[in-house]
Amino acid sequence: MEVQSELPQEIHNLIQKKDKRIEELKMQLGALEDENTKIIDNFQASTEVLLNRIKELEEVSLGARPQTANILNRIRKSYINIIENGKFDHIKEEPQEDVKELERCANCGEMIIASKMAFHTVTCYRKTVRCKVCGESIQRSIKSQHLNLWRSIQKITNAIEKDDEEELTMILDHGVKVDYKNEEGKSLLHLCAEYNSKSCLYFLISRGANTELTNTEGSTPLIVAIEAGNNKVATSLIELGANIEIK
Ligand SMILES: [Zn+2]
Ligand SMILES: [Zn+2]
Repeated sequence: MEVQSELPQEIHNLIQKKDKRIEELKMQLGALEDENTKIIDNFQASTEVLLNRIKELEEVSLGARPQTANILNRIRKSYINIIENGKFDHIKEEPQEDVKELERCANCGEMIIASKMAFHTVTCYRKTVRCKVCGESIQRSIKSQHLNLWRSIQKITNAIEKDDEEELTMILDHGVKVDYKNEEGKSLLHLCAEYNSKSCLYFLISRGANTELTNTEGSTPLIVAIEAGNNKVATSLIELGANIEIK
């Protein structure tokens, strides 16, 4: 009977071989699991680094915005969820205590409820632009009106009359040429000569204004200044290289 219970040598060998193979596979599996853990650790570490870097950049360039901090937080929670549960779930936005917190829209400057900012931004950028010169928020549809206002003769004359160099800088930056002439053929320097506006005069010449342009009567700014008795501007014009010979 004993003979029958013994396995033939061939089968015995085969089983031994299989056992050995199983051992090998177990070891391979262990190695793969180790590698997997390492990859997840690396992923976690590099994601942390990236998120922190975004935060830093944001703080440097724009100042920390609570809205972005929330988004970064949610990204962090999402990937931790992926690692722990192996699936991507949208993390529900937790009810925040600062739901009513207001933030200033970088585009239009209005105060917006922080939780509505993302939605607001989309429509806001579509509808309005911010003037790069004066910072005013303008409806896209009336952008040209904004520029026309800044380029109006009225605005230019007022600024020079008040000798308001800052205002005149803004006017030029809104697109008025330094050698602009009004309907009466007066250049900006003619207006300075007429109103005795020395600061504006210096500013215009620093921007390359031509001192020799003539008005409809054929007079240069220097002649206009002398005729008006505005000696300070006349002297300045001569000092700045205006031609003293009358043509
Ligand atoms: Zn806005
Ligand atoms: Zn503007």
